[in-house]
This record gives sequence, structure tokens and C-alpha cells, in this order.
Amino acid sequence: MREVRVRFAPSPTGALHIGGVRTALYNFLLARQSNGTMILRIEDTDQARYVPGAEEYIIQSLAWLGIKIDEGFSVGGPHAPYRQSERKSMYMQYAQQLLDNGHAYYAFDTEQELESMRDRLKTAGVVSPQYNSITRMQMRNSLTLLEDEVKALLAANTPYVIRLKVPRKEEVRLNDMIRGWVMVHSAQIDDKVLMKSDGMPTYHLANVVDDYLMKISHVIRGEEWLPSAPLHVLLYRFLGWEKEMPQFAHLPLLLKPTGDGKLSKRDADQMGFPIFPLDWTDPNTNEKVIGFREAGYLPEALINFLAFLGWNPGTTEEIFSMDELIKRFSVERIGKAGTKFDILKAQWFNQQYLRAKPNEQLAEYLLDSLSNENIACSKEKAIKVVSIMKERATFPKDLWEHGKFLFYAPKSFDETVASKKWNDDAAKVLEAYKTELKQLSSFDAATAMGTLEKVTAGLGIATGKILQALRLSITGAGTGPDLMMVMEIIGRDEVVKRIDYALQTLNAKVS
Ligand code: GLU
Repeated sequence: MREVRVRFAPSPTGALHIGGVRTALYNFLLARQSNGTMILRIEDTDQARYVPGAEEYIIQSLAWLGIKIDEGFSVGGPHAPYRQSERKSMYMQYAQQLLDNGHAYYAFDTEQELESMRDRLKTAGVVSPQYNSITRMQMRNSLTLLEDEVKALLAANTPYVIRLKVPRKEEVRLNDMIRGWVMVHSAQIDDKVLMKSDGMPTYHLANVVDDYLMKISHVIRGEEWLPSAPLHVLLYRFLGWEKEMPQFAHLPLLLKPTGDGKLSKRDADQMGFPIFPLDWTDPNTNEKVIGFREAGYLPEALINFLAFLGWNPGTTEEIFSMDELIKRFSVERIGKAGTKFDILKAQWFNQQYLRAKPNEQLAEYLLDSLSNENIACSKEKAIKVVSIMKERATFPKDLWEHGKFLFYAPKSFDETVASKKWNDDAAKVLEAYKTELKQLSSFDAATAMGTLEKVTAGLGIATGKILQALRLSITGAGTGPDLMMVMEIIGRDEVVKRIDYALQTLNAKVS
């Protein structure tokens, strides 16, 4: 069996898109489950699109999510360097090899010449003009020029590119692990540039050469690269590396939550959810975008969610830790069809993981929020607060946002609940309850309830009838977590104060 070596090969052209994170994750899962190696390669041959900070961002995002890199520019490894711009000198020999065995040629066409060729073809009715087996014979390249002319042009340092000589009539086939056999007729592949005039390889050449040199066994990448795959197959063949060719797996597209079309940053912005793992400030536009981390997503929840965007275990189980994913993942169970980026599902996963955390840990989130608000709170109280609030929280910040009433007395009361539930009986009970509470020597949820029952029994009013009025006076709202626990947390004196204030305010309104 071939040793599993996979790579995540982003281009540092901006923040890492969440789709890229899924690609990295699937590569990582395959590497880990087969005792293989996960490589991070930076594909920066297009220097014009290089964005400062992007590489650092990729490293930090993967680290946050627990996608560990075994070889790469940040950790080194036997195939260093792992940045294509630093490998520049390695590519020319392979382009030369292709030139020597007639699979590539020099092309000297200027931008204007290319332009007029495209115009000519368009006028003749060709929808997407290509530099290919037919048109290349009308252009200025080493196939149409005499050998001496080519030599002279090269000697005079005339700018040139090296193009792949794609055969005219041939079925190019590849067996994709997800899609099965993919067949493309060579007439549909154009003579792609392999080396640019600045001496840099293009993505296609660099990608294939590096995958070969780095002994990559599987190429797992987004569906947008499927059209390039036949070209890569030709390159492997022409370079004599067919046996070493990796297996391909092209991942399904990520679709908008509505399912119509590819998910874009614009959709995410419009629908109000993140699309990048971490906060990102675009160095060119200064636009700041919030990341999943900063929006309150837990890394383990995001991983679980992403794993399911295209893959499923074939059972109804949904909660998978990274270790479980490593055990259960298989490329064969990745679907072909695009998958909806259902952000509500991401939130659901977050909720599940948040709830499963020990209260001690959740308390730390709450204490963080509280210290931002300059509210003092003991760890003990924070633990009690999170124990009643966690079922209602999707994000860590909700523990504070939804639990503010535990720290601040309500200033106003829900009008609808007040109009339905505040009445003379409620006022009578609360008045008596308040007086009873003041007599208590100790106070907790059980005594709060016991005392209430004693009061209602004495007045002959059903407890159930006034519970919402009590809740309203304590929290200002008609719904919320266990009311007796709420009272225990805020303490007897605060309960009395709040009831007092409610009696004044609401009685005044009613009368
Ligand atoms: N550099 C390409 C990208 O940015 C990688 C494609 C591949 O994995 O072959 O997506």
C-alpha cells in the first residue's frame, strides 16, 4: 500500500474561506486515519495576488481548529521549501523536459497578438476562443517559427511563455474517488501556459511537479479544480510520472443555505453569518470581517459541522469529536452533490458542544463577559448561573446576554405578560410572600418554593396561577429558566427588592 501523503495547498490571496477549511479537514482526517502525513504547501506563484498576512492567517486558523500540519513552511520537513515562490528554480527543468520531448513549446505572442486572435475567432462565431491544437498553428511559437528564429528570439531575451502541447484528439480519463470515471476530450483542453514570462511556473505545472516531488498520494480539493484535473493527468503522463500520479478526490461545492448557487462571501454577509474562521481585516480595503471564532463558534463544533458538509457516517449519529471523525471518515462516503451551508445546523452543533461543557469551564466564559461589564461575581455564583442558562445558550456570550436579569433588576416588565398575569390575586400573594421571605433565616430554591406554597395555600390561591406574575417581577419577562433557582442565585434580599419594585410599578399601572 502506498504511504498516505496529502496536502492542503492554499494560495495566500486573502482570508481562508470556510470551504478551504473543509478541504484541509478532509485531508487531515485521511492523513490521520492512515498514519499518513499532512502537508501544508503555499501556492504563491501568482505574486500579483499575494496578500500580506494571509499565510499567517492560514496557520492560525488551522491551529485554532486542531488541524495539525506535519510538514509545511511553518514546521519544515524533508521536502522544504514548502512555499512555491521559494521553489522557483525547481520547475524549469521539468518545463525543459517537456520541451525536449515535444510536449511543450515556446510561445512569443504578445498580449495584442493574443487579443486579436481571440477577436478573430469571436467574429468567426467561436464562443470561447482557445489557444489550442488548431489556433496554435497561426501564432508565433516554436511550432510555427523556424528553429533559428526561435533561437534568435531566445538569445535576444524576447519575453516568452512555455505552453503545453495538448494532443488534438484524445480522451483524457481519470478515476476520481468521488465522481468515478471522468472523461474529457482533449479538444476541450487548451494549451495552458506552464511557465510565465517572469520565469514563474503557473499553478498547473507547479502543482503537478510539487505533488510528484512531495510524493503526494491523494489530492483532495474543491470541485472547482475538476476541470483542471485532465490537464494534470496529461502532465503526469508527459513527465513520465503516471505510476506516481496521486488519486484525485474533488469535493462537492458548498451551496448557499437556500441551495441555489455557490456560497459566496456576499451571501454570508447578507445573511449575517461568518465565512472565515477568524476575524480578518483586508489589508487592501481595510474591511473588517468577523470570524467564526469571534462570533462564538467553538472549534470542535465547527469541525463537526464542516465534516458533515459532504460526508456522512451512513448512520443517524451526528456528534463526532475529531478523534471519532478520524476513525469513521472515509472518502468513499463523500457525496457528489453540492451541500447546503446550513448555518442553523452550525448553530445547533455549537449548542450541543456548549451544553456538554462542564459548568466550571462555562463559568469562565461568563466571568469574561462579566469582567468586560465590570461586574464582580464569584466563581461559585457563575457556576450556578451557567447551570441554569446553558440550555438556552447557543454561543458563550449568550450566557451573559440572556442572563443579564441575574445581575440587573428589571426596569420594565413585559407588557403582554403583565396585562394577562398581573391581577389582584398576584399582588396579594406577592405582598404576603415578600413579608414571609423577610422572616427566613436561610434561603434557597427549595425554601423559596416552600414559602410560596405556604403563602398561596393560606390565601386559597393556586400557586400555578401566580407563578408567571412572580417571574415577571423577578426577571421582567414571562419565560426563562427555573424561577426558584433564579431566586436562589440572586438571593433573598434582592428577591424582596424586586418584588417590592414590581408591586409599586405594576399595581400603579393596574389601578
Ligand atoms: N492553490 C489551489 C487553491 O488555492 C490549490 C488547488 C489544489 O489543491 O490543487 O485552491
